[in-house]
Amino acid sequence: MDTTRLPRHATKIVATLGPASNTLELIEQMIVHKVSVVRLNFSHGTAQDHIDRAAMVREAARRAGREVAIMADLQGPKIRVGKFAQGKIWLEPGAKFVLDASRTELGDVDAVGLDYKDLPRDVKAGDRLLLNDGLIVLIVNLVKGQAVHTTVLLGGELSNNKGINKQGGGLTAPALTAKDMEDIKTAMSFQADYVAVSFPKNATDMEMARQLCNVAAAEFGHRPGMIAKIERAEAIPKLEEILRASDGIMVARGDLAVEVGNAAVPALQKKMIRMAREMDKVAITATQMMESMITNPVPTRAEVSDVANAVLDGTDAVMLSAETASGRYPLETVQEMSRICEAAEQAEDTARDTDFSGHTYARIDQAIAMGALFTAHHLGAKAIVALTESGSTPLWMSRHSAHIPVYALTSRLSTQRRMALYRNVRPLLMDSHTDRDTALEQAESHLKKRGIVQSGDVYAITCGEPMGAPGGTNMLKICRAT
Ligand code: PGA
Ligand code: MN
Repeated sequence: MDTTRLPRHATKIVATLGPASNTLELIEQMIVHKVSVVRLNFSHGTAQDHIDRAAMVREAARRAGREVAIMADLQGPKIRVGKFAQGKIWLEPGAKFVLDASRTELGDVDAVGLDYKDLPRDVKAGDRLLLNDGLIVLIVNLVKGQAVHTTVLLGGELSNNKGINKQGGGLTAPALTAKDMEDIKTAMSFQADYVAVSFPKNATDMEMARQLCNVAAAEFGHRPGMIAKIERAEAIPKLEEILRASDGIMVARGDLAVEVGNAAVPALQKKMIRMAREMDKVAITATQMMESMITNPVPTRAEVSDVANAVLDGTDAVMLSAETASGRYPLETVQEMSRICEAAEQAEDTARDTDFSGHTYARIDQAIAMGALFTAHHLGAKAIVALTESGSTPLWMSRHSAHIPVYALTSRLSTQRRMALYRNVRPLLMDSHTDRDTALEQAESHLKKRGIVQSGDVYAITCGEPMGAPGGTNMLKICRAT
């Protein structure tokens, strides 16, 4: 094993698993090298594949000595063309091409069937359809019955089941399909910590998904965090209500770029991350972050900048997709990303944001969280420590850049795993206590054992009295380690 010093960074790394990362040893190494959240992509594989993978992740985390969160990413509506007799065709610019929902025979160079039968209802003459992530562009001439007649604007190869987006949005497929509902049950059977919903259009989509998850997980007493993937044009004006109904968002730049145009995405990324933080929600920045490392052992300069800029935008996590799922260099990509996060954080020019100092808070626990940040900063404390049941105190602390690590100690495994996604929060498990002094003593001995504080170091610690009640943080103590 590589024994060189591991980078230390507050930004979390989400890695998608797939055929390139399907061994216990590799997943363990990825966790050692700072993957905090593992994404299972339900667009691929069977229910059993995901169940097996989840078990492997839990075992790998145990071996690595660090808990990670599992995020189940639902496929969402498939808005796709059907299949071709030859598997693929070549579309010439200027050619006519028909997308026909009623077609039962395989496609050819003139026409193809549709997986998504409602397309003729959702489009009109003049609309632009983007196929295969925008590599092919069709202009709609007219809709006749079940057939959408188009002219090819941007041609190229079109193969079986490629995705369709409409520029500007407007496809009405519901966010949760029958397959998603089954997949939710699978994901809850292994208590996935997060569920990511693809293509939500509004808060209702997220509320429905949450309800289905909570029902499916009720027998385990589990409640997953809900992540809204922002990848539809319609979701942008609804961002605030979607955020309110979710625990976090994913800046899903792949599909989003196709719908709103590439050029609009960087500004939207900044806006989404800022809004998420302001609303005490988490943000994941995703897609093509280290794309060239699917085949190359080093990233491009542009990719390095992209990851660093997401860190500076304040994202909680940066995500790897095909890089770790099917690329040639999964571990190297994680290591490289980790180094970029560390360097970007060191370059951040503000040591602490003060945007909360003028706020008032209705909640005692939230005011205590802010008080801990403020005091720790002014004392130059070594660490901020939160004894937490629900994880909400560390979440609030992590919404502001403090540059002092937050150690979140909990007796709940599900809380520990969920906090793995929060920027600057290092979740640790401890025994549950009813006596405050014993809890504080155990917390300090944990910190000392791990080398987080040494004798004489000052740290700030928050807890609730009586102990053990979620949302009950009402105490801030400044300690000097004995
Ligand atoms: P996907 O979502 O990888 O599931 O398509 C992310 C994105 O669209 O960017
Ligand atoms: Mn997507």
